[in-house]
Amino acid sequence: MVLWLTGHWSRQLALENLQLQNQHQLKLFVASLQGQLQKYEILPELLATNSLLLNFLQYPNDVNTITALNRYLESINNVAGASDTYLMNAQGWTIAASNWLSDRPFIGRNFGFRPYFKQAMQGKLGRYFALGSTSNRRGYYFAYPVRDKKKIQGAVVMKIEFNEFEESWSGLKENFVVTDPDGVIFVSTNDEWRYKSLSPLDDEVLKRIYASRRYGDVEIGTLSITRKDRLNETAQVVNMGVSRHSDHLMLVQEMAEAGWRVHTFASLDVVNGQMLKSVLFAAILYIAIILLVLYIVQRSRRIKERARFEKRAKQVLERRVQERTTDLTQANLRLMKEIEEHRRTDETLRQTQNELIQAAKMAALGQMSSGINHELNQPLAAIRSYADNARALLTRDRPEEACWNLEQIAELTERMAKISRQLKVFSRKTSGQIVVVSLRAVIDNALKIVGPQLKDTGTTLRRNVLKEELYVMSDMVQLEQVLVNLLTNAVHAVEQQDERWIEIAVARQQGKAIIKILDNGPGIEKANLERIFDPFFTTKSEDRGLGLGLSISYRIVEMMDGSLTAANCPEGGAIFTLQLNIANMGQQTTEQADLARQAELSRQ
Ligand code: ADP
Repeated sequence: MVLWLTGHWSRQLALENLQLQNQHQLKLFVASLQGQLQKYEILPELLATNSLLLNFLQYPNDVNTITALNRYLESINNVAGASDTYLMNAQGWTIAASNWLSDRPFIGRNFGFRPYFKQAMQGKLGRYFALGSTSNRRGYYFAYPVRDKKKIQGAVVMKIEFNEFEESWSGLKENFVVTDPDGVIFVSTNDEWRYKSLSPLDDEVLKRIYASRRYGDVEIGTLSITRKDRLNETAQVVNMGVSRHSDHLMLVQEMAEAGWRVHTFASLDVVNGQMLKSVLFAAILYIAIILLVLYIVQRSRRIKERARFEKRAKQVLERRVQERTTDLTQANLRLMKEIEEHRRTDETLRQTQNELIQAAKMAALGQMSSGINHELNQPLAAIRSYADNARALLTRDRPEEACWNLEQIAELTERMAKISRQLKVFSRKTSGQIVVVSLRAVIDNALKIVGPQLKDTGTTLRRNVLKEELYVMSDMVQLEQVLVNLLTNAVHAVEQQDERWIEIAVARQQGKAIIKILDNGPGIEKANLERIFDPFFTTKSEDRGLGLGLSISYRIVEMMDGSLTAANCPEGGAIFTLQLNIANMGQQTTEQADLARQAELSRQ
């Protein structure tokens, strides 16, 4: 619809333009034609005033006059640039002519049938267009009466041709055509159109034209014109063929005085071309607009879709976050529960561990009981004999010697008290306090406990300790317990050896105290190395080992933020390495720990 409207509108515009142009051209053409005619229409009247013409009409047989007249007419004709100029008598015979010397002179021919002659004989200026009957050349005739006073004696005629005029107007975009009152084309810038009528003529009219011999023997055809749109009174679109390319704009202008009509025919190809261009342009514009609209619609749809997608994604994300938060909260609750359970388990474990330590101590005590027995029985026996001696010496009145025996008794009891105190320390429950502890004191205490066993089994102890005093962070009682365990195990390990020794070595390494206990026993089997710290792992008989010593020791050391590892010496025997943190200044000292221990002892 838009394209049709654009096409229609642009066609109208182009048609109007063409119409304006052609109207202008048509006006020029008509003016030029009129100028041509006006130039000649007064000449016959002028000629008629020449007495030479009248004289000759009156005395036509004067030979001298005829030559002079012919020459005169010839020169006038040449000067005026007309085709022919001639004199006719009242009967229509040509008696003198400018072409008197040509092959086919008019002289002696009768043109009385021509309307221009008849008009002149009626005293008027005769005008007529016709094909020359003698020359067979088209021409326009002007005729004027030659009078003798009032009486018309003949007529002088001047014929002009349009060939040059036609030529000067041909070669333009438009074709010019002049039709006679019957509508027959007699002047045309297109040669093929000449002597054709613009619309079919009635037979009667044709007969009349043939009878008038206006166009001689030429057959009058019809120009094939289909009238289409009538734009106004003087403009019309016509088709001059079959195809659309034969569409022409036809303009008409009357030339009333001559009774002619002048037409222009201009091809509508320009109009159609312009219309096509406009339609094409409109189509491109239309497509571009449609594409733009489509693009905008698509884009806005995409934006909306993206917004919808982002909204959905946001919702999903929020839901997930919420779910995850719920999960996390639940996990957190579970974790807190687990921590609580863990704490409780830990407490239970600690309690169990303390109990185990206690049990292990008791077991160690049991194992040591023979040694203790020996340690206590020996002084007891000595005390008895010292007491017997003192009594006997007193009865014999030897008080000084009796006094010495009593002193021995006092010394022995002091020693026994010491042993008992050690056992008490070993068997009591720990306070669990990590304090600054003197490593030497702990080793001394442990060796005192293990001492009888070493003695009994004939095991040599090698002490390889530092001169400087090392203080470590630990629970003194528990550390003693660890050392007693390790030393007891070493004593057990070397039992079967011919020569038995164990070594305790202390070193300082990168801020740590390293205590190594080595022996020359069989070492630990490779397969057992990883299991010896497991609770109840033992290779000993039931009455000798519970398999708790190392596992308890390991745990104790771990709690002191230290480590305990086992390995085999390359030259045989096992080596246990204990690593502990060296205490900082300002931390609780051994003395303070001792005081704390004393306080604890007194509490028990
Ligand atoms: P128990 O002494 O009651 O067996 P422990 O936990 O103290 O329990 O020791 C576990 C095991 O580790 C021992 O049975 C023994 O096989 C091994 N073991 C410990 N110390 C030594 C050592 N110095 N030499 C060789 N084997 C050892």
